[in-house]
Formats: sequence, structure tokens, C-alpha cells
Amino acid sequence: MTKKVLLLPGDGIGPEIAAEARKVLNVVNDQFGLGLELDEALVGGAAIDAAGKALPEDTWAKCQAADAILLGAVGGPKWDNLPPAERPEKGGLLKIRSGLDLFGNLRPAILSPQLADASSLKPEVVSGLDILIVRELTGGIYFGEPRGIRTKENGVREGYNTYVYDEEEIRRIGRVAFEAAMKRGKRLCSVDKANVLEVTMLWREVMEDLAKEYPEVELSHMYVDNAAMQLVRAPKQFDVMVTGNMFGDILSDAAAMLTGSIGMLPSASLDVNGKGMYEPCHGSAPDIAGQGIANPLAMIVSAAMMLRHSLGMEEAAVKIEQAVDAVLDQGLRTADIWSEGTRKVSTAEMGDAVVAALQV
Ligand code: NAD
Repeated sequence: MTKKVLLLPGDGIGPEIAAEARKVLNVVNDQFGLGLELDEALVGGAAIDAAGKALPEDTWAKCQAADAILLGAVGGPKWDNLPPAERPEKGGLLKIRSGLDLFGNLRPAILSPQLADASSLKPEVVSGLDILIVRELTGGIYFGEPRGIRTKENGVREGYNTYVYDEEEIRRIGRVAFEAAMKRGKRLCSVDKANVLEVTMLWREVMEDLAKEYPEVELSHMYVDNAAMQLVRAPKQFDVMVTGNMFGDILSDAAAMLTGSIGMLPSASLDVNGKGMYEPCHGSAPDIAGQGIANPLAMIVSAAMMLRHSLGMEEAAVKIEQAVDAVLDQGLRTADIWSEGTRKVSTAEMGDAVVAALQV
């Protein structure tokens, strides 16, 4: 049975790293007989230039038809002066996320022991770090209504937003997190502010209820302020963390930086059936675009994540992750993760090295 994978290279370094992910996918496709059918389409600034909008109809049709989507990155100074709704980010990326109802955001923060020196924390605190943050992506305070800025009767302006989750929204993100925990260390920490916010009191109640369906998973709860502290104090205590949109936004960035290098981190955004869009955590890096020096590994491990979570191809996913590990063991580094005593390589050389490691 064939599986349709849509590659959306996007802007800046997007096409450079997408080319390397394509090489890797082609190799595992042949090796494992995966039946992947790779297609490609324009999104973001590249689509604005070629077709007048960030998400052309043809691209949207392909997104809907695909079994999984692999995106590079979108955006850049060239399109920053457009009205927000037409920009690559809002008019392209966010439209795909909301149009496909990709509510479940998985952001692993993994630090290969070989890169422990790249972190701003002490190597012994972060070496071997392997956390998965599950963030709700389409609800919560970022989307809640009413919202706005209004003038009160006394003439003073006030801004307001609404932090709202219904129990179905909580249950579906909770389920994603429990399922993910089942595939990992079977420990789940739900992050809330249940001492103050009613919406997260309900969040906690629903998580407790859901835990009955997953007796093997050890569920704990933590207030978000403590979670922020624990992430920098002793991050290895966590296996899977689940939280709402805003807390997840903040905590996942903090967790990403524990690893010291944004060029290494993948992410996934999933719908209720596990269909998803996979992308590196970083953006289009306009400052280094076109120089052939971008790190393609976040994109390559995003491809591995896609095989695992949306396409059920665990063996091929593990093979890619092992190949990435092997090239790091060989001392190959792109500029962003380079340090004394290692060998600096280009984007394409790094991709080729992963391909070579897949073939031994
Ligand atoms: P960025 O992640 O693109 O870059 C931040 C810094 O990290 C830069 O110095 C960059 O060179 C470096 N960097 C990022 N990825 C790298 C890689 N793979 N290898 C080596 N170095 C890497 O963030 P930014 O500069 O804030 O944003 C640039 C553009 O990307 C903006 O237009 C922004 O809107 C867009 N953006 C897109 C996404 C997305 O498509 N998902 C996410 C974030 C930002």
C-alpha cells in the first residue's frame, strides 16, 4: 500500500534542508520497501512569489490528500511588510495547522551525549536528556473568545483574552500524551495552574479520569511555575509532559534551548487520526540561507518522527535516528554545533553522511 508524503520546502534554508531529508527518505523507502510516494508543493513566501498567496489551492489540495506532510520552514524579511493574514506564517503555515485541525503538538527535546557541551547547562545536568513535550495547539487562551482591547466607562483601556478548554479538547490532547507515554518511559507529567485557574482545575480532573484507561502510565501533576524551575534544575526527571497551548509554547522553547542547538530539534502536529505535519522547531534562518551551512538534522529527524507517528514505520524511523547518531559519533558537525576537535561539514555533506550511515 502506498503512502503519500507531501514535502513543503518553504523558504530560506527550507529548500536546502528539505533536499537532504528527501535523500534520506528515498534510501529508507528502498531499503524497507515502505511504498512512500513523495510529492512536493510550494508554501509560504515561495508560493507568494510564484502564485500570489502563501497557501495556493493546489498546495492545500495536496495537504488534504497526503497521509503526512514534511515542512521545512516559511517566512523571511522579503514578505514581512505584507498584511499579517497574507504573510507566509499566518497565510501558509497556520492555515494548514488550523485547516487540518492539527491540535496535538509533539516537541521532543533530546540531547545526544555527543553534543552535551552545546548546552548552556552543565553537561551532567543535560547529557542524555530525552523529554517529550505534548502541547495543545489549536485552543486555550490563544484562540479563546471574547478577546480584544476595549475602553471602560471611565475611559481607561483594558486588554482581555479568554482561557477556555472544554473537556473534549482536554481529553483528546490527554489521549495523545498517554499514548506517547506508553511508547516511551510510561511517565506523564501534566502541567497546569490548578491552584488558581478553573480551566486547569478541569484539565487536571480530565487527566485523572483518563489515567484510569492507562494503568501502566504513572501520572503526576505539576504547577507551571514549578515546571519551569524543574526544567532548568533537573530536566532529566521528565519523560512526557502534557500541557495547554500557552504553557506549552513557553516550556517547549525552554526545553529546546536545554539542548543548546535549535538545528537538531524536530516537531510534529497531529490531528485526531494521527495524520500530521512534521517540521524542525527552527525557522527559515534567512541569515544563513543560500550558504549551504544550515544543519539538516532537525529536518531529517522530523522525517523519522513522521515515519513513526503518522505512518507506523517504526523500524525505518529507528534506522534514521541511529544513522544520525552515527554521524555525530564520527565527529561531523555543521557550523551551528561545531566545536574544537570536530569536523565542520556543509548541509549537503551532512545529508550525504547520514545516507552513507544508513547503508552500512
Ligand atoms: P530561526 O529559527 O529561523 O533562526 C534563529 C537563529 O538560529 C538564526 O541565527 C539561524 O541562523 C539559526 N538557525 C536556525 N535553524 C538553523 C539550522 N537548521 N542550522 C543552523 N542554524 C540555524 O528564527 P528567526 O530568525 O526568529 O526567524 C526567521 C524567519 O523564520 C522569520 O520569518 C520567522 O517568522 C520564520 N519562522 C518560521 C517558522 C516555521 O516555519 N515553523 C518558525 C519560526 C520562525
